[in-house]
Amino acid sequence: MNVHCLPAGPIPTNAYLLSEPESGQAVLVDAPLGVWAKVEPILKKEGTRLVALWLTHGHWDHTQGAAEIVRKAGVEVSAHRADQPLYETPEVMRSRIGPSIALEAVRIDHWLGDGDTLQALGRTVNVGHVPGHCPGSLMFYFPGEKVVFGGDALFKGSVGRTDLPGGDRSQLETSIRTRLYTLPNETLVLSGHGEPTTIGEEKESNPYVRG
Ligand SMILES: [Zn+2]
Repeated sequence: MNVHCLPAGPIPTNAYLLSEPESGQAVLVDAPLGVWAKVEPILKKEGTRLVALWLTHGHWDHTQGAAEIVRKAGVEVSAHRADQPLYETPEVMRSRIGPSIALEAVRIDHWLGDGDTLQALGRTVNVGHVPGHCPGSLMFYFPGEKVVFGGDALFKGSVGRTDLPGGDRSQLETSIRTRLYTLPNETLVLSGHGEPTTIGEEKESNPYVRG
């Protein structure tokens, strides 16, 4: 499986394009504004087709490229229902975003929950609900590769902010301890912003949530 990190949008947000040229399929995790312009050339080069878009949470910097991707690639979108208002009425966050960014609703085709599994790229992917940064925060764990796409729950040396509407610091800590820190230490953590890390490194040195 190829993993392409594609930072995009006004606040650089990491989208991840996961592809399997042998199967001709690709999946996108998160959709910052304008990311399709980075996704399309990779699909063409690899000869892969985008088959799904999975959203880690409803914050606008992760979702505002989704409508374009649905229009261009015709994929179905999966997310957690607790962020439904953020997906369907992104204007609720207008006061935090400022007037200059146009906001577009994202229609979710499949609501995912904790413990669900997804079949993609010839693999089984485990879905975890990791609320705290956002009520509908999800993580996507590939047990075969030992890689987790955790959105904005956990960062290298940091954790997601909890001061936005729906944020909850103690809930975030519980999510990290029970869903992320229980993964194998060597698991690669690919976050919604910034650099990669591992579960072991964060358990050892994360100043916000020690393992
Ligand atoms: Zn966020």
